[in-house]
Amino acid sequence: MIPKIKGLTHDHIDGSMAMRDIILDLYQLSGKPFPFASVDDWLAYFRKDPHKDMVAKFGTVTSVLQSREALEMAGYAYGKRRAAEGYVFAEAKFAPQYHVFDGMTVRTAIHAMHVGLKRAESQYGIIIMPVVAIGREATPDQGMNIARAVLNYAGEIALDLACDEAGYPPERHFPAFALTFGSNVHRDCHAGEWVDSEPSETYDARLLANIRTAVDLLKVRSIGHGRVLCKDRELMKRVADKGIRVAMCPLSNLGCKHITDVRELGIATLLDAGVCVTIDADDDLLFPALPEVLAHCDAAYGFTKAQSRALEDNVFQGALDRRVRTG
Ligand SMILES: [Zn+2]
Repeated sequence: MIPKIKGLTHDHIDGSMAMRDIILDLYQLSGKPFPFASVDDWLAYFRKDPHKDMVAKFGTVTSVLQSREALEMAGYAYGKRRAAEGYVFAEAKFAPQYHVFDGMTVRTAIHAMHVGLKRAESQYGIIIMPVVAIGREATPDQGMNIARAVLNYAGEIALDLACDEAGYPPERHFPAFALTFGSNVHRDCHAGEWVDSEPSETYDARLLANIRTAVDLLKVRSIGHGRVLCKDRELMKRVADKGIRVAMCPLSNLGCKHITDVRELGIATLLDAGVCVTIDADDDLLFPALPEVLAHCDAAYGFTKAQSRALEDNVFQGALDRRVRTG
């Protein structure tokens, strides 16, 4: 049966449909001309071959998210849209390093996004946990600078590691993550999403190694994707025993051609092993939104009532926000 998911656990603000709502306003604010004939043309550009030209596609959004006003507008629009869609809780990801090209500091970028998200939170009743991601190509020093900024929020913002996992495995940002050890900052990490396809004989092993690094070295509370976890029983058991959440994005993996069938993710196996799995869209500007993801996965797996219930409960069980966490 199709789970009814009330919260978002893996959702990037700059890849969300909230950007569609404000893209023309963002261009107007920036003073730059909108480089497409219409918003629909721009959306079609995003959705055509979603695995291609990712940097250029996101560039059409981040290039106009370079001021405090723009980031506040984005945060507010995000919360407004997710609340209107019926979600009661959202972990909202963004990477401040992509918003400092016109001179804003990382701290100012985080503050501006936080202001926008909190304004939407108070107005629409949705609970939002900002999740600040380090784009992994950042230097370790830049990563530490981002982690220090996150530490200022006393656990009200989580830390994540995102983007090019193939070029920059998670250990690169151990110094940033280590700064948060012993604090109340929750740590998340995209791991086991993508590595180079060659050499093929070590492909799964390299994905698993990154998940293991996130668990053992970065001491995360949540993993984004973890798409081969089901292939390592020992690691799967450890992730389950530690209560680490695995926020999977099946149609993002499929759209990026990392998998050819969502059943490769072993979602039912992970759930039956007691892993706190959640399902999300990743970026609904590029990939299908969550209701379609859930329907697709249910058609592929035929979730039992217990599995479906677990997917619904895990959103709150594994939440990075203590205001909604039940576990
Ligand atoms: Zn992601």
